[in-house]
Amino acid sequence: MTTQPKTTEAENPYLTREEALAILNTPDDQLDELIARAEKLRRKYKGDNVGIHILTNARSGNCSQDCAYCAQSCRSSADIEKYKWVSDEKLYRDNDFVNKNHLARHCIGLSGMKFTDAEIEELAAKIRKMKETGTHLCCSIGFLTEKQARMLKEAGLDRINHNLNSSRAFYPNICSTHTFDQRVANIKMLQGLGYEICSGGIIGMGESKEDVVDMLLELREINPEAIPINFLLPIEGTPLAHKDTSGLTPEYGLKVLALARLLVPQADIRCAAGREVYFKGEEKRLLSVVNSIFASGYLTEDGQGIEDTIRVIEDAGFTYEIESA
Ligand code: SF4
Repeated sequence: MTTQPKTTEAENPYLTREEALAILNTPDDQLDELIARAEKLRRKYKGDNVGIHILTNARSGNCSQDCAYCAQSCRSSADIEKYKWVSDEKLYRDNDFVNKNHLARHCIGLSGMKFTDAEIEELAAKIRKMKETGTHLCCSIGFLTEKQARMLKEAGLDRINHNLNSSRAFYPNICSTHTFDQRVANIKMLQGLGYEICSGGIIGMGESKEDVVDMLLELREINPEAIPINFLLPIEGTPLAHKDTSGLTPEYGLKVLALARLLVPQADIRCAAGREVYFKGEEKRLLSVVNSIFASGYLTEDGQGIEDTIRVIEDAGFTYEIESA
């Protein structure tokens, strides 16, 4: 049987690799104790609030990169809508929705690895317009040059999402067109410019528990403001379409999320893609660990919708509303 770290270490984020691995190996009959340990930190840093995020897919498909899980990649034959810019009408409607409902953040995803300065200026103009209403904005946007990152910062962009996705060792199994270290370097450059960082990963792509631990330890070093953890939704037409997801039990997912909370306790720990599939009926335990979720879908996959999301949060005894800045 695996030895569990003592509860006196409950607030110590400096778990060793072995202790972190032991947490992922927590026997299921000790899961509630682990959740209680994570919940203490969740309540300390985040109270009872759940941040709801709305995601707009501003640019879809035709990406030159070969990320195995992604429907927008050049090696995916998934049947998705492809466009260079979402309509301004849809983008600003989503932004108004975030403000009207006092949600936490508007996330804007753009497929692709590289952008021209002219494209970034177009995006900057849209950001300036959305910032007029005070929305907290995050862009998921591949690799920017430092000049481009400054252009978006000057336009008012608060945060950038750039996921590590998996461990350094496992990364070549899911992507061959860029490296893990390029991702880390990009995040460091953005942090140097004063950006808030959202960076997390995907669970269920065939990685080992050691890979999950190594990814989370890397994220502890980066110390991002938000850590989105996605649980693989295999998409037809992608190399991972038929990946066996039977290991993605709610128990395992909760252990991963609890470990993220213990390692980076003050971060927004987000249960992102897969929440509605893998955690159905587990919302109370889930929200005891995480304090952030999406309501509108995940780029090419649908989500739960705002009314149901709010109901789930309130039924579990949490609150969601924040004042927009
Ligand atoms: S995850 Fe991003 S970089 Fe990778 S294929 Fe999809 S859109 Fe391109």
